[in-house]
Amino acid sequence: MTSKIYKNYIAGEFISSDRFFDDINPVDGSLVARVAEADKLMVEKAVVAAKMALKGEWGKLPLVERCKLLRRIADGIEARFDDFVDAEIADTGKPQSHARAIDIPRGAENFRFFSDLARTVSTECFEMDTPDGSGALNYAVRKPMGVIAVIAPWNLPLLLLTWKLAPALAMGNCVIAKPSEETPGTASLLAEVIHEVGLPSGVFNLLHGFGPDSTGEYLTKHEDIDAITFTGESATGSEIMKVAANDVKPVSFELGGKNAAIVFDDADFDAAIEGTVRSVFSNCGQVCLCSERVYVHESIYEKFVSELKIRAEALIENWPEGQSAELGPLISQEHRIKVLACFARALEEGGNLVTGGGVPEFTDSRKKGSWIQPTIFTGLSEEADMVKQEVFGPVCHISSFASEKELVEKVNNSKYGLAAAVWTKDIKRAHRVSRQLEVGVVWVNTWFLRDLRTPFGGIKLSGVGREGGLHSLEFYSELTNICIKL
Ligand code: NAD
Repeated sequence: MTSKIYKNYIAGEFISSDRFFDDINPVDGSLVARVAEADKLMVEKAVVAAKMALKGEWGKLPLVERCKLLRRIADGIEARFDDFVDAEIADTGKPQSHARAIDIPRGAENFRFFSDLARTVSTECFEMDTPDGSGALNYAVRKPMGVIAVIAPWNLPLLLLTWKLAPALAMGNCVIAKPSEETPGTASLLAEVIHEVGLPSGVFNLLHGFGPDSTGEYLTKHEDIDAITFTGESATGSEIMKVAANDVKPVSFELGGKNAAIVFDDADFDAAIEGTVRSVFSNCGQVCLCSERVYVHESIYEKFVSELKIRAEALIENWPEGQSAELGPLISQEHRIKVLACFARALEEGGNLVTGGGVPEFTDSRKKGSWIQPTIFTGLSEEADMVKQEVFGPVCHISSFASEKELVEKVNNSKYGLAAAVWTKDIKRAHRVSRQLEVGVVWVNTWFLRDLRTPFGGIKLSGVGREGGLHSLEFYSELTNICIKL
């Protein structure tokens, strides 16, 4: 029985609650911590604290000082690197090697990156002619938006929370962050780091809880929240958008995907296999960018399916701490039920199960975890649920294509439009196909290679707006144009 308690952080203080929920380790179902759920009153307190901080010391702090504080948050994360890794793997079960290489370093880097960018970003200036010949000068000034609600998912908990928090703070806003109820750990450590760094009270507030009828809903419905930034399911985005519409609040949404991997006959076969193993099975398929639809040219289709099967079956599902671990469990039993239902539906719809489809057998306490087998289907129509709906698990459907035209039509026949991976050695084809795809991000001969300056986001059901570099800074600031008659 754990004695660990994750508290809320409001107005510079760690605050408990009279309602708690369990933070469960998906590796073996053990209890990681008890989490204090923030009620309506706490949401209110956090909003008031954030508004006061905007009017106080934080609102007056020079940009350069603000940026120094952000860099100290990055230093603080690195100083407690192992604690962050432990918290992330306890909440998600992801292999320790992944948390060490991706989640925690990127969590720190987000603060450094946006601290540097905020110091160099410029605004527009236009000189204009006037009938009297004296002219006028326009220049824009950038101001914080105010109090921002940051709502994050569970798949890359620290990385995605800080990806929003860092630019919001860099632009001088105050933030109320709500991590996913599944993964409160690293956000709680981050609150400790921010407390130690000494951000003025109320600038950063952390509230734990659920979505509907809980903290998330209370937060998004609060009239003094000036903007909402959310990463999560498309259906949740739709709910939040309805609420935001009441006060015409700006929203930034990174939502679901049903991403395609496309393998042409001229691709470097080994690289395409290697890349597709990563793009389908990374983080147990729980990355919004993962490929769940794989389209392979008919001339190499059979060979590709056989090789991907071998590679999927060779993936090692191990305790996160194990050096060999390549695949962790799904986030929860509830999510596993959903993913297994998607597998069952694919079979009902006539799919051919190439490998996986079930739950791995363990003789130790992993029996109580949410493990699942890496899974491949073939033979389904383009209208099948497995090809249409996001599963968010370690699964793909592979189908063949004959022509580029057919391929582009199939890939674009989706309600989602987040990302695609294209594998080809033909540079002309790479350019030609990439720009025809209705997605926000295309990778050619790679996957998940991120330059933080580039626009990131999706179209259709996959999101609203772009994050990354200047795009993030634009969302988290308001421009006022000042026109001076000379
Ligand atoms: P989710 O929508 O269930 O929850 C995300 C967050 O929203 C959680 O903190 C949750 O408590 C909160 N929430 C839920 N309902 C709410 C409501 N009505 N009001 C306010 N807050 C509410 O998503 P999830 O299951 O945590 O994450 C998985 C999903 O996120 C997948 O669909 C995945 O594709 C998507 N995702 C997208 C990106 C991207 O960049 N496009 C990145 C990661 C994950």
